[in-house]
Amino acid sequence: MNFLEKRILKDGIVKSGNVLKVDSFLNHQMDITLIEEIAREFKRRFDKKPISKVLTIEASGIGIAAFVAKEFGVPMVFAKKSKSINVDGEMYVAEVVSFTHKNKNQIIVSKKFLQQDEHVLIIDDFLANGCALQGLISIVESAGAVVDGCGIVIEKGFQYGGRAIRNMGYHVESLAIVDAMDSETGSITFRDQKND
Ligand code: 5GP
Repeated sequence: MNFLEKRILKDGIVKSGNVLKVDSFLNHQMDITLIEEIAREFKRRFDKKPISKVLTIEASGIGIAAFVAKEFGVPMVFAKKSKSINVDGEMYVAEVVSFTHKNKNQIIVSKKFLQQDEHVLIIDDFLANGCALQGLISIVESAGAVVDGCGIVIEKGFQYGGRAIRNMGYHVESLAIVDAMDSETGSITFRDQKND
C-alpha cells in the first residue's frame, strides 16, 4: 500500500452516492506535506516527458497542480468554470458535467496561456466518469498542444472515466485507484498497481 492509500484509509470517509470525502487532507483542508509527496510522485512518473505546462481545473485541482508545476519548474494554468455562454473568441471552451454537483459548466482557458506544440500534463484530484478530464483534454487539443499525460490523485476505478480515457490512448497515472467502497461499512478496496 502506498502513502496515499494509507492516508485515504486513515482519514477518507465513504459517503452514499459513491462519493469519497477526503476534505480533511486533500480538497478542503490540505496537508501540504502530503501534497508535496504527491507532487514528487507525479514528477517521478512523468519524468521522461518534456512537460512545459501543468493544466488543472478550479477549484480543488489548483493547490495540487501548483506543487506539481513547481516540481517540473513550469507554469500552471487552471481552467475556470463559467456559467455564461458569452465567452469571447479569446478563450478555449469545453463543456463539463460535474459529478459532485450534478450541474453543467463551461470551462474556459485563455488562448494566451496555452500555445500550439506545448507539452501539457493535466492534473486533477479525482477521476470518476471522466467528464472533467475529457474537457481539459479537449481544450489542450483545441490549442494544438500535446497531452503528455494525466495525473490523478484518486481514481474511482468502478466508474468508467479511467477506462474510457486510457482506451483513447492517453497516459493516465492515478496514485490510488479505488475499485470498491461501501458507505455502510466504510470499507475501501484499492487496485494493486505496479508503481507502488
Ligand atoms: P468526473 O468528471 O471524472 O466524473 O469527476 C471528476 C470531478 O468530480 C473531480 O474534479 C472532483 O472534483 C469531483 N469528484 C468526483 N468524484 C468525487 C468523489 O468521490 N469525491 C470528491 N470529493 N470529489 C469527487
